[in-house]
Amino acid sequence: MTKSWTTQSADETMRVGRELAAMLQPPRMLILRGNLGAGKTTLVKGIAAALGDATEDDVTSPTFTLVHEYGGGGTMLYHLDLYRLEKERELDALGIDEMQRNDSLVLIEWGEKFLSLNARADGEIALEHAGGDARTITLRLNQ
Ligand code: ADP
Ligand code: MG
Repeated sequence: MTKSWTTQSADETMRVGRELAAMLQPPRMLILRGNLGAGKTTLVKGIAAALGDATEDDVTSPTFTLVHEYGGGGTMLYHLDLYRLEKERELDALGIDEMQRNDSLVLIEWGEKFLSLNARADGEIALEHAGGDARTITLRLNQ
């Protein structure tokens, strides 16, 4: 299935994140695709807040640590940003297998760079600049 939204601000993107959280029953692994500044991390803020795992302010970019983990709301949320990762085999150290549990949602910024993640993901959420502060957000689920 495919579903799209257009937002005009970061707040609106967080609201879409809240809506998405209700649609994404775990277990699920999704690639968050989009250029720098497209709003991938902003979207995760809304998702984490709706799951009750973190406040929007608690969610920050895992650019340097690669993985941030949020729990407490019932669904575990793993938020990865692989922008700085170059080689497929560097993925092994992250333990993504262990993150894929029945109660977890795994959201991976820049996951499309890696063949093995493209193969394993249940779909993607793509964010695109649409002029000024506008963004289009498209959810594509494989089933
Ligand atoms: P990414 O993780 O894709 O690199 P971020 O979510 O970190 O992007 O940053 C998006 C930036 O764009 C933030 O500074 C945010 O305030 C701004 N912004 C402006 N309009 C929007 C919008 N419609 N949706 C999301 N972010 C927006
Ligand atoms: Mg980001």
